[in-house]
Amino acid sequence: MLPLFARFPALEPKLPVLPIGDYPTPVEPLRELGSALQLPRLYVKRDDLTGQLYGGNKIRKLEFLLGAATRGGAGQLLTLGFAGSNHALATAICAQAAGLSSISLLLHQANAAYVRRNLLLGHHFGAELHAVGSVPAAVAQVVWTMLRHGLASGRLPRYVPPGGSSTVGTCGYVNAALELANQVAAGVLPEPDRIYVPLGSMGTAAGLALGLKVAGLNSRVIAVRVVDTQFGDEPKLRRLIDRTAAFLHGLAPAFPRIRSEQCNVEVRDGYFGEGYGVFTDAAREAATEVLKRHGLKIDGTYSGKALAALFDDARSATANDRVVLFWSTSNSRDLSAQIAGADYRELPPAFHRYFTGDCQRWVGES
Ligand SMILES: *Cc1c(COP(=O)(O)O)cnc(C)c1O
Repeated sequence: MLPLFARFPALEPKLPVLPIGDYPTPVEPLRELGSALQLPRLYVKRDDLTGQLYGGNKIRKLEFLLGAATRGGAGQLLTLGFAGSNHALATAICAQAAGLSSISLLLHQANAAYVRRNLLLGHHFGAELHAVGSVPAAVAQVVWTMLRHGLASGRLPRYVPPGGSSTVGTCGYVNAALELANQVAAGVLPEPDRIYVPLGSMGTAAGLALGLKVAGLNSRVIAVRVVDTQFGDEPKLRRLIDRTAAFLHGLAPAFPRIRSEQCNVEVRDGYFGEGYGVFTDAAREAATEVLKRHGLKIDGTYSGKALAALFDDARSATANDRVVLFWSTSNSRDLSAQIAGADYRELPPAFHRYFTGDCQRWVGES
């Protein structure tokens, strides 16, 4: 049973879940990297292993989102993201697992090999892919696409917000914090003083901060911003924490009505670099080290930037006596077999530019 339901049984009948993850995800000591950084008590939470087929942080949110969608009688999901969106791909995979179809509306982003892979995989898993010209155009295109599919099939697609970070999706990370608290209680790791995690659509950091407070842990969440402030910053993060707490309290009064000021969380700027999905030297260095010493693969858009912040804190000796947890949010499952021999020309023409144009190199890629 999910730790959230074990602790608040009244939530279980109200929050249906599509069980696709494999929990608890392991916590492992990073001894070699820890001694190089003079962080003797450095650990990693392996959310790169959430799903058997596809890992990463989106699985935890989609279990709750898919549960709500199937109970609501949805036949099709529609979501929005950047071209290489892990969330859009995870939505396509989870939708297919639940017997639903999916539509992804995708904004332009900096090119990288993972953008190519995620586009091909989205297509492979049956998502209908559409390019969106700009952020302002996205709202109109979401509405128009919803209506067009609604008229054609007699049923409106269910909208899944970018990154899956609605209050329902965020519950996946409230649950993850309670899962971590169980691992602390079982002696898998000491109570972390600090937890480093990327801040994108914010559901991961918001759910963790709220869930840690509920669990009675004092760990400080360092949410490293990897998106433009128009999508993620501290006021928005605090609003999402407040809304999620109110939502869960409304479903089960035993869930405490926590306010975000009570949560131990900060947003860390300074690691975004030149833009969303633009890799930084600091992220490359951090990813190279953790790959070389522990064989752990992390991505450059999100987790690499969060680990770079951890590196800087270790070097400025602000965290060396502490128990530090790096929460990996990347997918580490290899899906290359699914797209071996795939032809990008089967994608809508607007996406061909990612296959014909230049492409950033990331750690571990040839
Ligand atoms: C989406 C994503 C994040 C960001 O999580 P949010 O809940 O959107 O803040 C972090 N890492 C990876 C690999 C992601 O795909």
